[in-house]
Amino acid sequence: MFYTHNESELIALGAKLGRLLKAGDVLILSGDLGAGKTTFTKGLAKGLAIEQMIKSPTYTIVREYQGRLPLFHLDVYRIGNDPDSIDLDDFLYGDGVTVIEWGELLDQSLFSDVVTIELRIVPEGRQLTLRAQGARAQQLCEDIKHA
Ligand code: ADP
Ligand code: MG
Repeated sequence: MFYTHNESELIALGAKLGRLLKAGDVLILSGDLGAGKTTFTKGLAKGLAIEQMIKSPTYTIVREYQGRLPLFHLDVYRIGNDPDSIDLDDFLYGDGVTVIEWGELLDQSLFSDVVTIELRIVPEGRQLTLRAQGARAQQLCEDIKHA
């Protein structure tokens, strides 16, 4: 469990995780509107040495960025549990990192190895809970504790 007190702490935590990411890593970001999913992704992008500005993919579903690795940033809120409307295989476990806002709404059997990060609004700021499925995801969750 992690706590961040403001936007810049949340970005710093994202950057820390971003520096650990490798090709094929998949992250799901869950949490209410305004919980900080896109803000956290800005941090991930920083850790991936992406210079472009990260914009919310709410209306485009997916945005792609190039840094140390490609980043596929998705927001699947609008497609909900209709995974046929997007071919996730184009992104998952390829040569980039895939970050999916609202990914918990998708059929979880699509994911073999994934870290799910739940962001919660608390009086002190944002609380983050990490859950790992798969060996690589477990490794990442372990590594961020010591990063
Ligand atoms: P989401 O993508 O989950 O809808 P955003 O990252 O777009 O959320 O928005 C988070 C909003 O909450 C931003 O406007 C940010 O300024 C605000 N905010 C307030 N406190 C915090 C905090 N402690 N950490 C992150 N964002 C915060
Ligand atoms: Mg968002």
